[in-house]
Amino acid sequence: MMTSQPVPPPPEEPANGRLLRLSASCPRCGSRPAVRVAPGVVQALAAHAPDARLATYQCQRRRCGAIFDLVARAFQQAS
Ligand SMILES: [Zn+2]
Repeated sequence: MMTSQPVPPPPEEPANGRLLRLSASCPRCGSRPAVRVAPGVVQALAAHAPDARLATYQCQRRRCGAIFDLVARAFQQAS
């Protein structure tokens, strides 16, 4: 009896439903951070001051590498 070919995994599918892109862009080159957050994160940060600095991100674009702040607004306005 022949065994069937293994089924390839389905294309990228987030385990916890839709993830949201941060509303932020690199001040030097304008590319957007390769970070996605769950809707629960957006809800959890809803009461934060929009200008509160929550994280920093280093741009991944080649030859950029700028480090910039991710403020609460970037999470609150994620879409
Ligand atoms: Zn950049």
